[in-house]
Amino acid sequence: MLPLKEKDKPIVQKLLSAGCCARCVLRFCCVSVQAAYRKPAQDTLKELKAFISNTENPKTQDSASAESTDENNKSHDAAVSEPPEDPPSKRAKLEPGPSEEDAAAAVKLKDEESRVCVVCLGILQELCGPAQAAKIAETVKAEKYEFDTLVLSVSLPAQLCVREHSCWLHVKKELREKSIAVDRDDLIQVKEAFKWIMQGLVAKELGGVAVVTRSLFEVSVEFTHPESDADCHFLATTCSDCFKPTKNKQSVFTRMAVVKALEKIADAKFLKHYPSPPAQPTSSCIPQDVQCLHMSVFVAGRYNKFCRSLPQTPWVIDGERRMESSVEELIAAPILSSFRSDGFNFSSSGREDVDVRTLGNGRPFAMELLNPHRSRLSRAEMKQLQETINKSSEKIRVRDLQIVTREAMSRMKEGEEEKTKSYTALIWTLKPIQREDITFIDDIKDLTLDQKTPLRVLHRRALAVRQRVIHSMNTRFLDSHHFYLGLKTQAGTYIKEFVHGDFGRTKPNLCELLRTDTDILELDVESVDVDWPPSIPE
Ligand code: ZN
Repeated sequence: MLPLKEKDKPIVQKLLSAGCCARCVLRFCCVSVQAAYRKPAQDTLKELKAFISNTENPKTQDSASAESTDENNKSHDAAVSEPPEDPPSKRAKLEPGPSEEDAAAAVKLKDEESRVCVVCLGILQELCGPAQAAKIAETVKAEKYEFDTLVLSVSLPAQLCVREHSCWLHVKKELREKSIAVDRDDLIQVKEAFKWIMQGLVAKELGGVAVVTRSLFEVSVEFTHPESDADCHFLATTCSDCFKPTKNKQSVFTRMAVVKALEKIADAKFLKHYPSPPAQPTSSCIPQDVQCLHMSVFVAGRYNKFCRSLPQTPWVIDGERRMESSVEELIAAPILSSFRSDGFNFSSSGREDVDVRTLGNGRPFAMELLNPHRSRLSRAEMKQLQETINKSSEKIRVRDLQIVTREAMSRMKEGEEEKTKSYTALIWTLKPIQREDITFIDDIKDLTLDQKTPLRVLHRRALAVRQRVIHSMNTRFLDSHHFYLGLKTQAGTYIKEFVHGDFGRTKPNLCELLRTDTDILELDVESVDVDWPPSIPE
């Protein structure tokens, strides 16, 4: 039995004669029993027919015809703004005379079953069932995703809203005449009914995986209906400010814009531009390719860079590649293949120049893996992955590799300016030096520098004077023109500029302190003091 009440009868009748499918009738009767939608549509249609034919016994028909005279008067009054009543032929079809026999009724039923619904354009008819569920499952299986749950999302053509609105106005008139109060919000959405029917079927096809409302894994089905694309166009003239061209959208008639325009438009105005009920379509919606998307997975760790000719990110000048590889590519390649991810975004706690090594415990980094087909690796598998990276190149090394949350990633950037970094620089001096000439440097503590944006980064950073602190320094004498300088500095200090002075743009600088020209021959990052990600014991 369908969960319908006596008051629904005139609505059911009106919707069926307007060309609504059985499931759309249930939606407009606010039937929220999911099982009712999962029944075969032809069974529901038969039940609906039986349900309305109950009223057609002579006694109720008398009262109905009395009412209908009344109704005719009313609609006559309203005829100025409302579209004409159903054509007589349709009406006759719906209310068969007692002389018509079962055979004729069966032919008619068959005919009605094959008609494309004027509201859902076939979505809740042939586009909703075991065959479609099998097709969706097939795509998911072919892409070999690893997942426990999935969320099914549906994208419908925007004109479906116009048709829904038209049908609602058609029903609203009936409801008002019968003084039945129905809140439009209680209507069941096409999307909702589609999911009620499909979720279970898709789950079954995928061997019982849970199809839920929130999941990291999303399977999207999209429908288009080119035949009725123009249905929305009149709204652009009635509500032009709802349809502003946007950069990324192909059409201004987005679902959002159409919904907004329909909220604004007066019923009479709508009915002047659009038939109610909607016109009969000749074809169903066209299902587009099923799309699968897994939410990003985040991986973090620390890297060492042992090579003085390796940039951190691909180095491309005027479309031409300068170095054959980069830190991020060396790290990313094995990770991408392990997680079977489509792409990545790399970030790190600061970065070193191409000719600078990063030693010690390394530099914290994090990677967002886009659309990973695999999202969980055990601790042992992560360790294995780390080894694979480390074996793949002599130029870099990775430690503390782990899966982290998106939220945890921001810890790396937090308070980055306050963190300290330690360096070792190989210094050349123009004037010959002796061991004791440089020892005074070891006593300098918390030296504040004024650093004008270095010339070499001026093309990508705004011109400014930044204050940075060198907390401490130490020296190791090599020969009369060379020594090693150890520095512990505030993050963001430009070391090269402190050494050579950058034409006086960094003050004070090492040239001033030693009263001779100095230059930096080699630079190593010894430590980046960021306590994230947590270290993993080897
Ligand atoms: Zn329908």
